[in-house]
Order: sequence, then C-alpha cells, then structure tokens
Amino acid sequence: MPGIQVIEATQPTDRPKLNRVAIDEAHCISEWGHDFRPAYKELSWFKRALNNPPVPISACTATATPRVRQDIINLLGLDPGQLKIFNTPSARPNIHYEIRYLPNPIDDSGDSGKAQVNDFVSWLKSIQSRRRARLGGNDANLPPISGIIYVSFRSSSENLAGILSTSWNGNIRAVAYHAGLSSQDRTQIQSQWTSPQSLSEPNDQTPAFYIIVATNAFGMGIDNPHVRFVVHWNPPRSFEGFVQESGRAGRDGRAAASIVYFNTQERDKVLDRLRRDVENAYNRANKKPANGVSKDDPNSNLQNQYARLRSFQKVVRYCESTSRCRHEMIKDFFGDLELERMGSQAPSSEMKTGSSASPCDFACDFCKEGPRGLTLRKARMAIENELMDCTQWDYMSNMEAMYPDAFSGFD
Ligand SMILES: [Zn+2]
Repeated sequence: MPGIQVIEATQPTDRPKLNRVAIDEAHCISEWGHDFRPAYKELSWFKRALNNPPVPISACTATATPRVRQDIINLLGLDPGQLKIFNTPSARPNIHYEIRYLPNPIDDSGDSGKAQVNDFVSWLKSIQSRRRARLGGNDANLPPISGIIYVSFRSSSENLAGILSTSWNGNIRAVAYHAGLSSQDRTQIQSQWTSPQSLSEPNDQTPAFYIIVATNAFGMGIDNPHVRFVVHWNPPRSFEGFVQESGRAGRDGRAAASIVYFNTQERDKVLDRLRRDVENAYNRANKKPANGVSKDDPNSNLQNQYARLRSFQKVVRYCESTSRCRHEMIKDFFGDLELERMGSQAPSSEMKTGSSASPCDFACDFCKEGPRGLTLRKARMAIENELMDCTQWDYMSNMEAMYPDAFSGFD
C-alpha cells in the first residue's frame, strides 16, 4: 500500500509506535474496492497482522449508506462485538430544508428558466430586507452572505452566474466554479468567497450576497463554515450527494438553509436515463464476451447502476413528499435509525429532538406550512403536468422480480 508504512510496524520492536490505524473516506473501500481498486478489499490484513497486541482501527466517512457501512465493517474484518459507532445525524438541526416546486420550463434547456431565477432572487431580496430591518438600515459595511448553488453542468454554472450577477443592481456577486477553471482562478475565488471582507475596496460596491455556482461533480475542497444557504438548482443526482452537499451549509452551527428546486420534467429525464443505464448494464451482464474474458465485472456494474437509480428515487421521494418532516426523511433514508439500532453514540449536542409539535422544531417546509399548505404549493406546479403516479415505482418492483439475483443485497 503506497503511503502507508504499517508493514514496518509489524516488527516487534516497532509495534508500540503504532497506536491506531485510521482510514479516512472509508466509503471508498466499498464504492471503489468493488470496481477499480481491488486492493481496498484486502484491507482486513490490518486486523490480521496487527493482532498482538491488537491495534485499534478507526474508519471515518461522511457519506455512507447502511449498506456501505456494513460493507466497510465486513471488508475491514472488524468484530461487531468490539465495534463502537459514532455518528452525527445526517439531517442537521440548524438547517432549514425546503423544496421549491417549479412549473416545467417552456424551453428545453432545463436550467436558468426565468421563473426560477425570479423566485430565487425574490427569496434573496426577502432575506436582505429582513437583515436590514434587524439592523435598522445600518448594513452598508456588512460582509456579503455566502451561498452555494449546485448545477449539473459547467455551461449552466457559467450561464447562471452571469444571469444572477446582473439581476439585482450589483447586490449579487455570483461566480462559476468548476473543474474547467485554472487552479489560479479557483484559488482566487476560494479566498474571496471564504473571506468576503477582502472584497471591500474603495469604489467597489460590496454585494449583499456572494454565491458560488458549482457543478455537482466537482469536489469543492473549500472549507467555509459560514455558508448560509445551499441551493440545488436541479434535483440532486443522488441522495448521498444531496446530504453531503446540503451539509456544507451552516457548519458554524448558525441557522442555514437547504433549498432544492424541483420540476417533473427534469425528474423524468433523469429517471429515464438511469433506467436505460440499468437495462444496458443488465444486457451486458447477460451477454458472454466473445473471448470468454471480461475486463470488468458486469454484475457489479449492474448493481452500481441500480444503486444509482435507487439513490435518485430517494431524492424524488424526498422532494415529492408532502406528508413528512424532511429532517425525519433524511434520517430515515440515510439509515440514522438503523445506526441507532446498531448502538451508535451520537454526540449529545446533536440529540435535540425538537418540540412535540414538530420533530425538527419547524426547520423544514413541511413542519412550517403543514401538509395542506405544502400540498397546495406543490399542486400549483402540477396543474399542467401530471404528477408522478405509482407506475414509476411499480417499474422498479418489476425489475427486481425479473432479476432477483442482480438486486440481492439492496436495502
Ligand atoms: Zn420538519
């Protein structure tokens, strides 16, 4: 294993130097080990080799579903009887979760629809006027409020950043942030956005909002604890990605918001593509290669494609539900309840349970607006678009019934 020098530590004289083995980003063991890093699957040798005296092993991750967690435990050969699990709740108590339902765009671009931009800018204006009222108009020298918008494509991030920057008299500074930028540009954007005070130059209007418009695919590598909102301009592609990305809001513990814009056209487009991927993967898995040798494991590809579809289904259920607290849904979908059953020890400061009237203390649109208000708001989107019907979900059960072997092991 390049970069890990524990082999030397197995020598008796060196052994006391090794107090613990820590594996960061441990979900990679499961997600990558099955595909293109088979050596990750062999990591249980730590446990076997460092056995006398045993060296404790820690595995850390911010993005593991129950299945991935179990996979990590199995692949590392950890003893469930000795295991201690710690987790912070996937839904963060200081984040207000909200879905904004949009009518389908008239054009086919799928992004930067006028109605969506107007809705978002109105929301920023309402935040700004509340801030002004609180400060009695004395807000001229305040640093801008930091936010992130996630979009699906580079071109959308450039496009949207341009539109937002010119949409409200210099009050919004929005910059595109993606893998196509030079590292110099990225560094500059990072430092300005993380310390927006540096924006204040003579004759330079300080914007009320400083927003990074980033692509989902690009790991940002920015540590800004003061992000006040994370907006998904399109429904996130995976539920794990959604929880991780929205979790960039409010890391300072202060109030923050997660907003997802949702429309049925985008939902159907993504579902169609993911289904085709599953079907193609199924066909490949059942076709013997001509030379009898396959480079990658077609069954594992099928399972991965299916997992992607399942994860997006969770996103859709999260967005479409009008009958449940969103904090509760995130905890449920992300397996927090299962972790509790496994004896996980959550930090006590995170154990806030909210009032009896609302599980999240009114920090989501369902708890704030109630099922009736939320249903009405959603119905306005659906007037001219048929809402998702049950056949969408039947399709998945059919797939599973037809190909039970391929889908075994999924929760
Ligand atoms: Zn709630």
